[in-house]
Amino acid sequence: MQGLMQNQQLLISSLIEFAARHHRDAEIVSRRVEGDIHRYTYEDLAGRAKQLANALDGLKLAHGDRVASIAWNGYRHMEMYFGVSGSGRVLHTINPRLHPEQVAWIINHAEDQVLCFDMTFLPLVQAVHAKCPTVRQWVALCDADKLPADSGIPGLVSYEAWIGGQSKHYRWPQLDENTASSMCYTSGTTGNPKAALYSHRSTVLHAYAAALPDVMCMSARDAVLPVVPMFHVNAWGIPYSAALTGAKVVFPGPALDGKSLYELIEAEGVTYAAGVPTVWQMLLGHMQPNGLKFSTLRRTVIGGAACPPAMITAFEDGLGVKVLHAWGMTEMSPLGTLCTLKNKHLQLSKEEQFKLNQKQGRAIYGVEMKIVDSEGKEQPWDGKTYGDLMVRGPWILESYYKGSSPLVKDEQGLGWFPTGDVATIDEDGFMQITDRTKDVIKSGGEWISSIDIENIAMGHPAVAMAACIGMPHPKWDERPIVAVTLKPGAQVTREALLAFYEGKTAKWQIPDDVVFMDAIPLGATGKMLKTKLREQLKDYRLP
Ligand code: ADP
Repeated sequence: MQGLMQNQQLLISSLIEFAARHHRDAEIVSRRVEGDIHRYTYEDLAGRAKQLANALDGLKLAHGDRVASIAWNGYRHMEMYFGVSGSGRVLHTINPRLHPEQVAWIINHAEDQVLCFDMTFLPLVQAVHAKCPTVRQWVALCDADKLPADSGIPGLVSYEAWIGGQSKHYRWPQLDENTASSMCYTSGTTGNPKAALYSHRSTVLHAYAAALPDVMCMSARDAVLPVVPMFHVNAWGIPYSAALTGAKVVFPGPALDGKSLYELIEAEGVTYAAGVPTVWQMLLGHMQPNGLKFSTLRRTVIGGAACPPAMITAFEDGLGVKVLHAWGMTEMSPLGTLCTLKNKHLQLSKEEQFKLNQKQGRAIYGVEMKIVDSEGKEQPWDGKTYGDLMVRGPWILESYYKGSSPLVKDEQGLGWFPTGDVATIDEDGFMQITDRTKDVIKSGGEWISSIDIENIAMGHPAVAMAACIGMPHPKWDERPIVAVTLKPGAQVTREALLAFYEGKTAKWQIPDDVVFMDAIPLGATGKMLKTKLREQLKDYRLP
């Protein structure tokens, strides 16, 4: 027997309609590329998203056609989130930090027809446009009077001129909820990038889940600052969850340095912020030496890479900001787990709670997970046994766009996505990432977690960033070394740093050497790029 409830499709357009109706005067505040602060409301945003939808109709773009963005976090980008997807097209957010060759490759692979870009990225677009024959309309996300006369890009229009004359009335199409809504390419640290193609359904379900109290806990009382870029897995879904809850949104634009972020958080009363550890490192680097405190910030989600315990302490004990450690992937929309305690953990000592808080956390409803050995046999949840982490759920990738399905079938025929991460899961379901499969260090038949080694180094007051990699060893296969950068003006010797490991990890896991570096190579999403680091240290020999 079928249920007798309304079968309403879960559509992205419904999020902005809801926000415009129920939170019409809640603010969207953006630092623009021009440097000034722009503010308007969800009602304004909805009207302009409809103008954009009308402009796309004017180009006779079919449902499913791709519209790309190369843009910072800002209100025009958010209009694209709703105007492009809401009108049945697919928003393709491009990571501008990729190599221009890769950007051109991605545009061609996605067959983008329209490409909207912030003026910061004009040189990038100038470098690639001639190689991108599928794009029939280039749009600069700026006012009409800011459009350069001689950009060299044929038919370039300003966004404001393009949508300005369009009607603010638009009837959103009643799409099937499984229709594609947006796409994001992985950073492609190995081989060409691959795209996850999200649907309206996966996006709306993820937005619901992300807003839950044990996830991002977003509400109409929040002012949310997504520092995580909108070109990186839809800023972890925050623009959608913000519309769903009516939260005020504060966009940092291109100003991601510690001082600009701090000033924006204070000026706009930000209560909740989200970003990767490297960005927060810059914020702390500005606040700590200047003795600054937050007046409104209460919590921050940190993910995308392991959050060093020293960062949790700096935020929680030093600044009164609760850290929520999160784990996810582009292929998972991205949220998979988030670390919050259970009722029974409230009795634990502060140290025991701190230990738990360092883990990547518990699965969010909608995400099933398991760890398996090399034969695919499920491993116990004892917090010690590690295995390859596999996941499944309604916002997890089934197949890559124009690619194959990476899913691995279990004996029931259910498909699991192999994350490429190695993890443990404890009795309470708290998952902890040991490493990416390719970064695990194998020493004398045992595994060493590079994340553990990095976290210890990052706990030393002189260390700004640490990356641990394995070096070939004639007897042990591999031995760990740790590459570090130091905080400005700080000093520590190789011997002192190695001595710092004593008592904090098993003796045989202590790195064999320390390499001091001016900078550790970062990838396009601000994560440490170990492939590049290995390349830079290819002539290095263990002592
Ligand atoms: P890519 O960097 O490959 O494009 P993502 O940005 O989706 O892909 O990164 C996903 C990967 O980032 C995860 O598989 C995991 O290795 C790593 N990651 C994400 N969050 C965390 C975390 N909290 N702790 C450790 N690793 C993390």
